Amino acid sequence: MPIEIVTIPCLTDNYAYIIHDKLSNKTTLVDAPDFDPIKKQLDERKWGLDNILITHHHDDHIAGVSNLIEQYNPIVFGAESDKNRLPKLDVGLLDRDKFSASNLIFKCIEVSGHTIGHVAFYCPSEEIVFTGDSLMSLGCGRIFEGTPEQMFRSLNQLKNLPDETIIYSGHEYATQNAKFASTIDPYNPDLVNRAKKIMENVYLQIPNVGSTLIEEKKTNPFLRADQKEIRAVLGLENSSELEVFTVLRKMKDNF
Ligand code: ZN
Ligand code: FE
Repeated sequence: MPIEIVTIPCLTDNYAYIIHDKLSNKTTLVDAPDFDPIKKQLDERKWGLDNILITHHHDDHIAGVSNLIEQYNPIVFGAESDKNRLPKLDVGLLDRDKFSASNLIFKCIEVSGHTIGHVAFYCPSEEIVFTGDSLMSLGCGRIFEGTPEQMFRSLNQLKNLPDETIIYSGHEYATQNAKFASTIDPYNPDLVNRAKKIMENVYLQIPNVGSTLIEEKKTNPFLRADQKEIRAVLGLENSSELEVFTVLRKMKDNF
């Protein structure tokens, strides 16, 4: 692979990601929860920092940006619509905008719900997507600013990407998500296996991010509001997909 992706644990349960292109020696960071752990990874590899992509305005995704700018002078990308709440952007992105970073073409996908103006970064050539606090391993972000409709629509945008797409999300929430999913979809054999694997990873301190979209479609309850078994557990056989999703999200908030 001409690119290398480094997953960096930050703060309590956040992840930042470095995407490094070996040919051009260009480096791109997705989200900056903190400065020190990111600088450490860059320094160890003797990499600079050319670009920062920001998924959304929350502090645990941007707190390291100002120090990184001071140190590395990268180009900062983020949602144009949320520029007043983000660090100063060099490039403001609209939904479906394409841009180049680390020698790769990325597409900005608007995925509001957790916040308004939340974006994901999809790179078709590498089949990777950075989802921040929208789609997560076995879960999705809490709905703070948007409506359930918005989050449902956002997740559907991501669900439409190719099945092989690898999902890199902003937090290590897999353990709690697996517990919740297991109460909703207890007879799903793919989920049973995945929950086991997640516990193993936690024990071995391996991050539970980097799942494929097809894995999420088979196991993530928030992508499975159309499934008979889940509807039966909830007693919502005749409800719309959006209604099922809304109930699931509320149940998770109180789990
Ligand atoms: Zn957030
Ligand atoms: Fe977050």
